[in-house]
Amino acid sequence: MADHRIVAKAMNDLADDWHWVVLRDAHELEPRLFVARTVDTVCGILIDAGPTRVRLYDTGAPAEPTCPACLEDGFDRGLRAQISEAIEAAEALPLAR
Ligand SMILES: [Zn+2]
Repeated sequence: MADHRIVAKAMNDLADDWHWVVLRDAHELEPRLFVARTVDTVCGILIDAGPTRVRLYDTGAPAEPTCPACLEDGFDRGLRAQISEAIEAAEALPLAR
């Protein structure tokens, strides 16, 4: 089973940021209805220790979160690892003279 990532609010609070909410080990029971082992956000808010059922609705969520910590991590991890390796390799090169 795979993680399923959506943009949503962690709390029923209009002032809350939009986060990447991750349905861990999610299994789709029917369209838009999932069972997840745990539900949390990328920035570390545990929403439901689960297992739990989650029905997705159209909440008018933006395509990207507004939470800075979630946005930071929304970057593809593999790609970011490659970028940081490239930066390290560049730093390790001796300066041309
Ligand atoms: Zn967040």
